[in-house]
Amino acid sequence: MDKYEILQRCFGYSTFRPGQEQMVDGILSGRDVFGIMPTGGGKSICYQLPAMMMDGISLVVSPLISLMRDQVMSLKGMGVPAAYINSTLTPQQIQLVYRNLLAGMYKIVYVAPERLDQPGFASVAARLKISMVAVDEAHCISQWGQDFRPSYLRIAGFAERLPRRPVVGAFTATATAQVRQDVERLLGLRDPVRTVTGFDRPNLYFQVLKPERKDQALLSALERRRDKSGIVYCATRKNVETVCQFLLDHGFAAARYHAGLEERERTQSQEDFLYDRKMIMVATNAFGMGIDKSNVSFVIHYNMPKSMEAYYQEAGRAGRDGSPADCILLFSRGDVRTAQFLIENSADNEDLDPQTRAIVRAQDLKRLDAMVGYCRTGECLRGYILEYFGQKHPLLCGSCGTCKGNFITVDITREAKMILSCVQQIHEKLGYGVGIDLAGRVLRGSRDKRVLELGLDRLSTYGLMRGVARTPIREMADQLETEGYLVTDQTHQALRLTPKAAQVLFRGQEVTMRKPLEERQEPPAARRDVVPEEDEALYQRLREVRGRLARKAQVPAYVVFSNATLSDMARRKPRTMSQFRQVSGVGQLKAQWYGQDFLECIREYLDGPA
Ligand code: ADP
Ligand code: ZN
Repeated sequence: MDKYEILQRCFGYSTFRPGQEQMVDGILSGRDVFGIMPTGGGKSICYQLPAMMMDGISLVVSPLISLMRDQVMSLKGMGVPAAYINSTLTPQQIQLVYRNLLAGMYKIVYVAPERLDQPGFASVAARLKISMVAVDEAHCISQWGQDFRPSYLRIAGFAERLPRRPVVGAFTATATAQVRQDVERLLGLRDPVRTVTGFDRPNLYFQVLKPERKDQALLSALERRRDKSGIVYCATRKNVETVCQFLLDHGFAAARYHAGLEERERTQSQEDFLYDRKMIMVATNAFGMGIDKSNVSFVIHYNMPKSMEAYYQEAGRAGRDGSPADCILLFSRGDVRTAQFLIENSADNEDLDPQTRAIVRAQDLKRLDAMVGYCRTGECLRGYILEYFGQKHPLLCGSCGTCKGNFITVDITREAKMILSCVQQIHEKLGYGVGIDLAGRVLRGSRDKRVLELGLDRLSTYGLMRGVARTPIREMADQLETEGYLVTDQTHQALRLTPKAAQVLFRGQEVTMRKPLEERQEPPAARRDVVPEEDEALYQRLREVRGRLARKAQVPAYVVFSNATLSDMARRKPRTMSQFRQVSGVGQLKAQWYGQDFLECIREYLDGPA
């Protein structure tokens, strides 16, 4: 079979996605490859497909052991003999896999990176014909990346020591220049074929909300997505606990996940979520690396993450099967402080020398600035993301909170001057700066104790903005920061003017701000479903069939078929096996296994019970 036949017969897809074919061809011609594709871009096919065509065995190195089983089940669903080796297996089970490996029974084997070093495995490997080592989440090799794994540093040596050096393929969704260089150098890639596909994920809808109360905003967002599966990310373990309990109290089936929980509970939560027993996962960023549950239809950030890299990776876990999905970030000023605190007190960098640690911290703070910029920008959110990852993009994407939002631009020059003058006067009087809260109280003419104690009621800006509420003053101050007229000192949270402020104060520079015309808090996305309304009932029935089959096979539902496959099925309504095979994501073997059940369900839906 050639690659197109395998794509169709085994994976059930009629065309390659961008970048996939180039990677497949590279590997088949014996070259190393390096694929940089966004989460959900389809990296697995890049190495799984050539692995099926090559002689010998392919190893896939992956850091996330809990998902290896699903990957292996998916491969078996395509008729590919596969196995995994990790610490969840007993020594006896591992021995069995080794024996089968030596007997040539597998085509693809998933291994955790730590395994490569172990003498038992190394001696088995030396006796195998290994034609490829595919390294998933390759950015784990870089100290500059998010998830550094020292054991990744030993992959290159492992490949070199094999009797014949195999093709090495590296795959990641992280694309900063530093990480790219590290991957190529530290994995010892030899003149690799490189692919960087676009980072855009057109099916994702992006939105930033700044609600007065996050818990209420979260509730109403979830109400609109009742039977959908999604992740709620929080910045801290404590938040995970509170938010999860809050959701349970309101009748949502939520699970929780963070590093402070017992291993057992974490595994349980993860499975409950993967198998759709719990629709909502409330978690810290400890959850999700390598999670390839394809039917996640929203990712809500209850707190702002520390960097755009982290945000895009986490948000990118939504909509991996290509169905429309929503990425919503609930932002508040407090998030900035929490993130700063987490960066400044990070235990990750404890073993670095002080100088390196200072550099890493400075970098982290720079990344945080870019993240805050995303929350505050009045521009197209998708544009902001793509810009950050160095990709060209149109000015407006037409499907993000900004582009869909109904904005007007208001002139806030007068208020801007008041705020800037007030900040300046306070600074002159006290010899140090204060935060926007106190400055705001001065502007609003508050009789607050601190204002009076410090004598700030004697400033000429005192009471200039009487009658204006707290939030708008803060928002305007945010806008002044975004435009570079004000800065917040990282350590004391104190505001100070930048030299640029003089343009507003003395040189007639105008300041404007975009405001939503009506307080529209939600995207129309929740209702914007892939399944046309008239097919919705059938779609629900197909989901039930899928659920039944998944339980029988003891795999998560998406391992049977993805949501995208089910909605294509609902639209096409196949009546025969050959029509069934036309559905996107239906391969030969799965058609044999599951075809009858789905065809029967469709027939019953169209003709009524027999
Ligand atoms: P990644 O590892 O890059 O995050 P995956 O390999 O898990 O992404 O693929 C994401 C989803 O896209 C999966 O549901 C997969 O079946 C689907 N997919 C991959 N390649 C294609 C293709 N050529 N056509 C249609 N769907 C595809
Ligand atoms: Zn946009």
